[in-house]
Amino acid sequence: MTSKDYYEILGVPRTASDEEIKQAYRVLARRNHPDLHPEKEKELHTRRMQEVNEAYTVLGSKENRAKYDQLGSDWEKGPPPRDARAESPGGEAFSDFFRNMFRGGAERAQPEEQSPSELDIEATLDLTLEEAVRGVEKSFSLMAAGLCQNCRGTGRKGASFCPVCGGVGEVRRRREVTAKIPPGLLPGARIRLKGKGNEGPGARGDLYLTIRLQPHPDFKVDGANLETPVRAMPWQAALGSTVSVSTPEGPVRLRLPKGARAGTRLRMAGKGLGKPGERGDLFARVEIDLPESLSPKAEALFKQLEEESHA
Ligand SMILES: [Zn+2]
Repeated sequence: MTSKDYYEILGVPRTASDEEIKQAYRVLARRNHPDLHPEKEKELHTRRMQEVNEAYTVLGSKENRAKYDQLGSDWEKGPPPRDARAESPGGEAFSDFFRNMFRGGAERAQPEEQSPSELDIEATLDLTLEEAVRGVEKSFSLMAAGLCQNCRGTGRKGASFCPVCGGVGEVRRRREVTAKIPPGLLPGARIRLKGKGNEGPGARGDLYLTIRLQPHPDFKVDGANLETPVRAMPWQAALGSTVSVSTPEGPVRLRLPKGARAGTRLRMAGKGLGKPGERGDLFARVEIDLPESLSPKAEALFKQLEEESHA
């Protein structure tokens, strides 16, 4: 049996404040949570978790900490140990040192309520351009922490640590979330879903979604503005015509002015991205095309055009 330095286990100085001890515990508890590690490392992290829990059970309680500070290094000179095992059934989660020192009578250090910001989740949500413009209701799943049902978040089962959560009081589960996405969000926009984050003792965090647009075959995105190609046959470009242009709401007819040259950008106000009433513009960029095949007559006409341009 060796004496344990609980301060060392939590990585805090002996002068640490209650708050520092709590913070250190939280960081270590999250880092060593057995669920976060591959199967073969589980045992190691479960063991570390137990040590960390034990240290926090002592240092996280004023009364226990005072007792430990007084007796800790000198515990062997304390009263002789009784049969500790009988007092903590299944209590192998606690070291002999702990059991001898506290005789199973340790005051439980409850993890205090966590402030919601520590429980928030950040995630990215992919939308199609059409969904971003129109708004959409999206369902997806994500991994989030919830209170362990086996121990109701206390991390304890009787005198030992809860075997389901390893003493952390929380388990990570895949959870279904439905989010109502309002119309007009720009890429990079962040929306908050209140209470959809991780669940901790006495608190629920929020879920923050950052909007990302899936690439679209028809549109190039530039802030709130969009650009889309519009194909025109040479005669349409030369003479002016009405052509079909893609918009986020579907194709519309656009008046191509007479003499539109390749690369000309025709502005369609308010057909871009953004909130209704504040939307950016859509630019239709003229591309000159040719029919798949030219009839002999069409070819003859183009020859005439060629001669005309040399005249
Ligand atoms: Zn549990």
